[in-house]
Amino acid sequence: MTTHVKPQRGLSTMPPYKPGKPIEEVQREYGIQDVIKLASNENPLGPSPKAVEAIRDALSEINLYPDSMSYNLRQAIAEHLGVRREQVAVGNGADGIIMQTCMAYLDDDCELLVSQSSFPVYDKFALAMRATLVKTPLTADYRLDLEAMADAITDRTKLIIVCNPNNPTGTIVLTDKVAAFMARVPDSALVIFDEAYYEFVDDARYPDTLQYVLEGRENVIVMRTLSKAYGLAGVRLGYGVADPTVLAPLYQVKGVFEVNRLAQAAGIAALQDEAFLKKSIAANRAGQQYLYRAFERLGLDYVPGYGNFVLVEFGPQALDVQERLLAQGIIVRPCVNYDLPTFLRISVGDEDQNARLVEALENVL
Ligand SMILES: *Cc1c(COP(=O)(O)O)cnc(C)c1O
Repeated sequence: MTTHVKPQRGLSTMPPYKPGKPIEEVQREYGIQDVIKLASNENPLGPSPKAVEAIRDALSEINLYPDSMSYNLRQAIAEHLGVRREQVAVGNGADGIIMQTCMAYLDDDCELLVSQSSFPVYDKFALAMRATLVKTPLTADYRLDLEAMADAITDRTKLIIVCNPNNPTGTIVLTDKVAAFMARVPDSALVIFDEAYYEFVDDARYPDTLQYVLEGRENVIVMRTLSKAYGLAGVRLGYGVADPTVLAPLYQVKGVFEVNRLAQAAGIAALQDEAFLKKSIAANRAGQQYLYRAFERLGLDYVPGYGNFVLVEFGPQALDVQERLLAQGIIVRPCVNYDLPTFLRISVGDEDQNARLVEALENVL
């Protein structure tokens, strides 16, 4: 039996989003207990301990609705960034900000402009709003091609998303290219800089996009998350920084209590946990270098990147390698639905996990 009640038209155009395979599923299917997941760019050090403590303290109040405007959390984010609270919106993960923005801005006569081989959640919500997707190819060195993106702007372009560092390639676009791009974006198009991996980037050429908001540009949202470097993927908290006039429509559409009480408490505490942040960044850098050296030893090409993951080329047998890693209890991410079918995206794990991955790859290859 199938229902005769038709879902709204946008859904028929939406490809299914495949999240990383859950550990429990691999345990069940392969009968292995000791499974590790290097597929969703989660923090291998666990969550910020200060956030965990704040959640514990907040637990006795979960009978109460959260503050729907997340006043204290937005204030804390604003202070952390040196902006005003009115310039900060929060969401159920950065995904929540993407959803709010698509709901708030896209109509069925609008275009969403993104790069190929970028984060697929944009497509999902834009298609749900029945907007048209416009995609430009990556450059030969796996970066977003901002010139091609600027060339693709039309008078129907409403939303442009620049994922920087880009997931799944890990590459960044640099200050000069971003400046040239922004000079070509009309005031009628909104640009989201998706900086989910911002904290991991250590490169003087990485653009300071908050500057656009601080200068008063009314068509820019800088979006970040506490899921990655702060280790809070499970409580779902992301934020967008923009001119208050840009954010007002997001407040109109957001879930009334979209960011829950535990997430608000955790976010405030995590932002003060500089020790944890430093440790995350250092562990990621060391793990990434370790993996790079191992891939070189194994004769594997990879894309040097800036996130907490590595994009590795395996040629036509990429999915085969992924399956055989699964059989050894290691979950990595195929990149078929990122238009990169010969690659696997591998999250940087802790020392043991990275060593286990390398050993498994040695067996598989
Ligand atoms: C992980 C990720 C997000 C989503 O983060 P959440 O805050 O967990 O929703 C957004 N954009 C990119 C590029 C990501 O990799």
